[in-house]
This record gives sequence, structure tokens and C-alpha cells, in this order.
Amino acid sequence: AAFGSLSDRLNDTFDRLRGKGKLTEADINVAMREIRMALLEADVNYRVVKDFVTRTKERCLTAEVLESLTPAQNVVKIVLDELTELLGGTESKLVLSSRIPNVIMLVGLQGSGKTTAAVKLAYMLKKQGKSPLLAACDVYRPAAADQLATLGGEIGVPVFRGDGAHPVEIARASIREAVDTMRDVVIVDTAGRLQIDEEMMQEAVDIKKAVKPDQVLMVVDAMTGQDIVNVVSTFAERTDFDGVIISKLDGDARGGGALSVREVTGKPIKFVSMGEKPDSLEVFSPERMAKRILGMGDVIGIIEKAQEAATAEQLASAERMLRDGFTMDDMLEQMKAVKKMGGMKGILGMLPGGQRALNQMGGNLDEAVFDRNEAIILSMTAEERRRPSIINGQRRARIARGCGLTPTDVNALMKQWGEMNKMMGKVRAMAQQQTGGKKGK
Ligand code: GDP
Repeated sequence: AAFGSLSDRLNDTFDRLRGKGKLTEADINVAMREIRMALLEADVNYRVVKDFVTRTKERCLTAEVLESLTPAQNVVKIVLDELTELLGGTESKLVLSSRIPNVIMLVGLQGSGKTTAAVKLAYMLKKQGKSPLLAACDVYRPAAADQLATLGGEIGVPVFRGDGAHPVEIARASIREAVDTMRDVVIVDTAGRLQIDEEMMQEAVDIKKAVKPDQVLMVVDAMTGQDIVNVVSTFAERTDFDGVIISKLDGDARGGGALSVREVTGKPIKFVSMGEKPDSLEVFSPERMAKRILGMGDVIGIIEKAQEAATAEQLASAERMLRDGFTMDDMLEQMKAVKKMGGMKGILGMLPGGQRALNQMGGNLDEAVFDRNEAIILSMTAEERRRPSIINGQRRARIARGCGLTPTDVNALMKQWGEMNKMMGKVRAMAQQQTGGKKGK
């Protein structure tokens, strides 16, 4: 994943600091040199690195830090603060006005992920109860409008395409269409070019004049590296815009461009895109991203993902589980939920130290276990799934035959079930203690 090696290197530095106990000025100097190298290697703009390290070092080299009881922890906290600041400090929200329809315009180079981002944004807004309309104004890339129409169809958002018309006219007409069909947000996907050129800039300016967007967002590809900064600056001069969407942060971009963009251009990052699926757009939070980079885990991200994945039905089943114990059907449901959250890799990547663990495994997480376990459970009878304790040796052999796996595979699953059931018992005891008002321990 992006930032993987940066995370590793920063954590190695922190580990060395923690191993020291008391810190001297020399220790801080060494650590700051390591951080500087790590950032430069992640392709962060050198000026940004210089300022960052200067600020961080200054804050670390105070008596307050050096003579504290936990100097290493203080250093980590300062690095976290400064990294959060670097990324913009606080969340920069998508600002929608009370005008109907609201207009969001996307600009960016060809291949940056603009069309994909338009769809993701539409999907996000739709989930928030809005009724978006996608406007296909990229008339130069022949497949662009088709691509948008297909993706829009998948998420149930209409796509306005003015076949043959000029992009400015399509943009204008899309607003009228939105009014006529009662859509409250129009997302205008504009044309990109491989390189920045005058014609593209002018067209973006013209569309902007024509539809007066509430928000203009620029999409940049995380893989562009440091060049992000140049592209963003050039666009900022010509079309100006309100914020940046960084796409393809799920890839193995070193991430330096993404880290530099706010500091160098002053433009806030509003969203990051972490995959090709419609639900892989995240509201960008500087603190959460900084924590993720520092391997502190993104607990809020996990909770949000879980909430998105959880249906009312699942919440009800959680209650039942607490009451009646954990069945194989529950396990099946749980595995499906994990899959929905992006698999174990997705979840682990957000846990404290999880990204590191993943890197160390070299991405060798056996997701196939899920498919095996699913096959095993599906090979059980309804009665066995409800009351797994009845599964004896004979039943195990039959289940294994049924799904084409070995009794050892079945045993592994049974063991896992046993542990989860035990855990569920503990949670139940805890819950009873709380609701029963009894004093703990
Ligand atoms: P456009 O020319 O700017 O409209 O770019 P597209 O939206 O067509 O995206 C170009 C390619 O990048 C497509 O193959 C997308 O599937 C892919 N893509 C876009 N966003 C992401 C992302 O966040 N992650 C990954 N892995 N791929 C992406």
C-alpha cells in the first residue's frame, strides 16, 4: 500500500528511540536525520521535508521533552502533530450550498481517475440522501461518456450526455436537465489531457463560467509522485479550485506527492480514493491519515467501515448471538462482513501496527481460508450450523467429503468456532455485568 515503506522507516526510528529510555540532543538529531531521509525517499518535496524536520526538531529539543518521563512517546506525539498539520490540520469538508442543483466540477489530467472519482462522489452523495446527476463533458476520449454511463448505471445514478454537443453546452444543459428531473447535485466530469495544455485549461475555465460550480475539485493520481505539486500549481493558477481528490492511494505509490500537495499549493485534500470500486472514496482526515502513516491505526476508519457494512439485520443478529451463542451461520455472516470491508488486508491495514505486519508478511495473507471455511460451513446441515457442538468425528468426515476438503480443515474451523464462542461468552458476561449494575471484579 501507499506509504508502506515510509511507515516502516518511521516506526523503526521510533522503536530505536523507545529502546533508549532517556534521550539526548544527539539522539534527537539522529532521529530527525532518519525522518528526513525517510520522507525524501517517500518522494516528499524537499522543501516540505526541510520545514517539517526543522519544526519538529525544534519542538523535540526542549527540556520539557528531553527531561520528561517518556521522551520517546513525546517525540512520536510531536511527529504526529506536525504530520497532521502538514496534511492540512483539520478536515476540509465538501461545501454544498442551498442552491438547487448544487454543482460540483471535476478537473484533472487524463487517466488521473476523474471519471472514477465522479462516480464515487455520486455514490457517496446518494448514500447521504442526495439525488445526483452525472454530466459527461469529456467529449474527446470517445469511451469516456460510455464509461460514465456504465458506471452510473451500476450505482443507479443517471448520466447526462449531450452527444455531439460542445462540452460547455453539455455542462449547461445538464443543469437544466437536473432542474427538470429534480436532481439536487450535478457532478460535471470534464475532459482531461495527457499533459497540461492551453486548450484544456481554457475549456475548464469556460465550463466553470457557464455553470458556476459550488465546488471545483481537482483529481490527481498518487502515482504521479512529486509532479503532483506542479500539476496542481498550474491548474490552481488557471482554473482555481477548492480542493483535491487524491486517487489510487491503494496502489504502491510512495505517497510523497500526496503528502506535499497541501503544504506547497495551499489546496486542501478533500477526498482520497483507495480502489476502483464505487465505495472506495474516503473523506480525507489529516489526523487519521497521519496516524495511519505512523502505524497508529485508523480505528475510526474501521468503525465507519463496519457501520457501513452493518445492516439492521446484522445488528439484530449480534444481539441474538450475545443471547444464544455463536452459530456457524453467524460465522458465515461474519466472514461475509469482513469481505465487504475489503477483506482481512483492508481491515489489518487500518489497525495499529497492522500495515507493518502486512508489509512484513509481504502481502502473504491467506484470504483463501475464507473461501475454504465458507465451503465447509455450506457443507453442514442446518442443525449442525445451529448447534455446532453436535459435530462429532463421523460428521466431520462427512462434511469434509461434502466440500472436497480434509477433516483437518474442518477441525481448524471447529477450533476457530470454539474460540469465538468462548469470546462471545466473555462479552456476554461483561454486558450482563454492565446492564445488571453489578460491581466488576
Ligand atoms: P480519467 O481519464 O481521469 O477519467 O480516469 P479514469 O477515471 O478513467 O481512471 C483511469 C484508470 O485508473 C481506470 O482504469 C480506473 O479504474 C483507475 N482508477 C481510478 N481511480 C482509482 C483508484 O483509486 N484506485 C485504483 N486502483 N485505480 C483507480
